[in-house]
Amino acid sequence: MRIGFIGLGMMGHHMVAHLQEAGHELVVHDVRRAAGEEALSRGARWAETPADAARQSQLVMTSLPGPRDVEQVALGENGIIVGAGPGTFYVDLSTSSPTLIRRIHQVFGARGVRVADAPVSGGVVGAEEASLQIMVGCDADVFEQITPALRPIGDKIAYIGLVGAGEVAKLVHNQIALVVQQAVAEALTLGTKAGIQPEKLLEAIRGGAYGRSGGGVGPNLEKTALQGDWDQPRFALALARKDLGLANDLAGELSVPMPLAALAEQTLVECLNRGWGGKDMVAAWALQEDRAQVQVRVKLPATT
Ligand code: NAD
Repeated sequence: MRIGFIGLGMMGHHMVAHLQEAGHELVVHDVRRAAGEEALSRGARWAETPADAARQSQLVMTSLPGPRDVEQVALGENGIIVGAGPGTFYVDLSTSSPTLIRRIHQVFGARGVRVADAPVSGGVVGAEEASLQIMVGCDADVFEQITPALRPIGDKIAYIGLVGAGEVAKLVHNQIALVVQQAVAEALTLGTKAGIQPEKLLEAIRGGAYGRSGGGVGPNLEKTALQGDWDQPRFALALARKDLGLANDLAGELSVPMPLAALAEQTLVECLNRGWGGKDMVAAWALQEDRAQVQVRVKLPATT
């Protein structure tokens, strides 16, 4: 299939590589020309604008930071809408607004362009290993037709429902992750400041009724937060705030009270004000450690 791909960032550049390995012909575009170099060296073509990428493609994918970028790339001047012909597909892989993708679906639909939202989960490692969970929202017949373009980038492809449903599922997923992260950070700063070794706390929690489920205290905790490993972003804190903001916006639209998610968003806003938007989302731990005036660190077992 001829695929246009826009947004070759931390996630997108791996996805493009896998699509090329699977034999698809790629036309790529990014505001940073350098982001496309690797793909071009493997035979992709460069497009000067999203419209140009769409003109050359049967299916266009975007992996962009958030709704503002998606709106501009899809509907803006020289956007996908200008170049996409009837019978083509547009698949947004970004974590973005369900309300926006439904609006795009309306506008594109009037031109015969079929739309799907297909946000992903699994992090940069999942993108690199092509083991992403993909949460798809679109008409059922569209799902059938776009699946060959999704299979190379994720091994768990779930049809969630009509357009926008994928984004809702993704926002709910990230809401849980971000609220639980702050609950665990609070609890472990309390336990550590009360004089208990973090290793002992983890042993107690993981053996206990709640910890046995792994929720929030899975094995990555020692490798990231409890090493203070947040300077290099795997998933940028600014993007995490965007996701929680979108979940809270949706809750506002639907009159769902979400006091915990609102508080968690405020914490992320405070992190952004400290200039941490480009750090990993785990940097929210640093704020809790600063508030509590204690650091929670563990030694990793020596590897042989
Ligand atoms: P990123 O910032 O690394 O990549 C975004 C890319 O889009 C960049 O290369 C940027 O130059 C490009 N871009 C921005 N605006 C553009 C525009 N107007 N036109 C063309 N290109 C533009 O972000 P990422 O971490 O790769 O995340 C991409 C999406 O995937 C986000 O919606 C994010 O929430 C989601 N996501 C990220 C992760 C993760 O772990 N990083 C995991 C799951 C989902």
